[in-house]
Amino acid sequence: MKGCTHTDQIRDVKPHAHACEECLKKGDTWVHLRLCMTCGNVGCCDSSKNQHATKHFHSAKHPIIKSIEPGENWGWCYIDEVELDFP
Ligand SMILES: [Zn+2]
Ligand SMILES: [Zn+2]
Ligand SMILES: [Zn+2]
Repeated sequence: MKGCTHTDQIRDVKPHAHACEECLKKGDTWVHLRLCMTCGNVGCCDSSKNQHATKHFHSAKHPIIKSIEPGENWGWCYIDEVELDFP
């Protein structure tokens, strides 16, 4: 089974805001929010038109995100393309 080899990049981060900061700046809306587990950046999901969480991975090279939607605790590694469980 393929696993994630980047879990050492997970930090004890807190979301900067419960909003996509990039979308707020542009006055855009988003669908769901994803938290970068390395730096605490909050970005919007791939169902959102701006896909800032994925853009953050490409620019910052932080591979692991987690959903911060209520009741969701799954994460995702963009490099390994595997789902991760967060407590
Ligand atoms: Zn990984
Ligand atoms: Zn966004
Ligand atoms: Zn980050």
